[in-house]
Formats: sequence, C-alpha cells, structure tokens
Amino acid sequence: MKILSTKAFIVSMKKMNEADLLINYITEDYGRITCFANNARKSRKRFLGKLEPAMLTNIKFYEKNGISLNILYEADIIEDYKNIRKNVDIYISITKIIEITKVLCQERDNNHGIFNLIRAVFSSLNSIEPDNSTPFSHEGAILKHELYFISNVLKFGGIFPNFTSCTLCSKKNYDRTFLFSMKRGGVVCGDCARTIEAISLPVNFINLSGLMIRSDPTILKKLTVNDSMLKNCVSFLEDFLSFYTGKVFNSFLTGIGA
Ligand SMILES: [Zn+2]
Repeated sequence: MKILSTKAFIVSMKKMNEADLLINYITEDYGRITCFANNARKSRKRFLGKLEPAMLTNIKFYEKNGISLNILYEADIIEDYKNIRKNVDIYISITKIIEITKVLCQERDNNHGIFNLIRAVFSSLNSIEPDNSTPFSHEGAILKHELYFISNVLKFGGIFPNFTSCTLCSKKNYDRTFLFSMKRGGVVCGDCARTIEAISLPVNFINLSGLMIRSDPTILKKLTVNDSMLKNCVSFLEDFLSFYTGKVFNSFLTGIGA
C-alpha cells in the first residue's frame, strides 16, 4: 500500500452512513479525486476543522486495491482562508469558483494551471478589506475576482473564446466591434453575423478579459472598473460557460452577479 500526498481544496462533500464522508478534492498533483474518509465525523484528531471549503490542506491518501476509491488517511492545514468563510458574499463567490472547477475538471485530469489559479484567487479574496475601509466597492472587488477566475479558467481549460478574428471567415476584429456567437465560441464579423445568431459583447469586455488572462492576480488590487461593467462581463462569461458545458450552474443564480 503506497501512501500518496498532495495539496488539495475540497470541491464537494457527501455524508455516508453515520460518520463517514465522501470528499471530492481538486489536487495539485492528481487532478480532481474522490476520497473516502472513514469515520471522519467522529475522528476529531485526524480531521476536525480540516475538512472545510476555502482551506488549502495537504492530504495523505491511498488507493484501496481492487476498487477505484481513495482512502483519506490524514489532512493538514496549509492555508486557512478564514475571512472568506466570514463574509457571505465572498463565500457565495467561492461556491461559484468551486462549481465551475467541478464541471470543467474531469477526475484525474491534472491541470496545474487551474489548481494554482484557485489558490491565487482564494488568497486574494481572503485579503479583501471589509466594507468602507477602501475607496473601492466591496461588490466590485468580488466581481473582479470572478472575472479574473473565469477568464483564466477558460484559458487553462483551452476554451477561451476567439475574440481576435471572425470564426467563420477569419476577418480580423481590429476595431473590436464584432458580435459574438455562442455556437461558434467566438466573434463573427458584420457580414457573417447576418447568417448566424450573434449577440453584442459587454462594453470593454475584450479589453478587460484580455487583461485578466495576461496579468497576475495583483492586477485585482490596482484595477478600478465600474461595478455594472464588471457585472455585465461576469454574466456574459457565465452564459458562455452554461452554453458551452450545457449545464445549469446553481451558483450562478445566487451570486452578486445574478
Ligand atoms: Zn466573417
């Protein structure tokens, strides 16, 4: 029996029997995995306070021979994002991040980019100052993080839409006025838009999402954008994700962007 160890965030958790838990993690080295935590709800020493969302832990687990299930052996806290759990708006925002991750990352399909992105965004969300202590709106700060996360998760997932040229005739979108086709997953020029259903992109969307995928998360503290513009950009990306995956994201219905 080989014990494996990796850094991990909880994606979802399900109660099994009286005291057992089935935990879905996104990990640094093994992608998304499911672990069975035997007696976790009673084993205070091994797991108490270590099985929380918005917490980076180091987990140890082993594969049980014959069945494709991992047994969780130990969890230790590396980073605890306590402020996230104290603020309901930020907490709702991380449920969105987690739900998107669960849909886009398949089990055992490792993606370091997405893992590091979650870590960076959680850490930055955790450091958002409480209301009134900064000149920027609290809601805007959260929306910027959502825009950053979704833009980059699409990039790392290889599904960031094409905004640079018409997806039908390849004409360049130099003045950034092309419409967007959900079906084509990218922009279409004026001529092609007459042949296919297409919508307008939110104001400044191409600039903002482009900036997000080219920058590290420190951009989130420097950038000032008006809240309604951010809200429109996030909601466009949510629509794109729903269309692309064909899934209903429950968290999209409750967040501040809703
Ligand atoms: Zn075209």
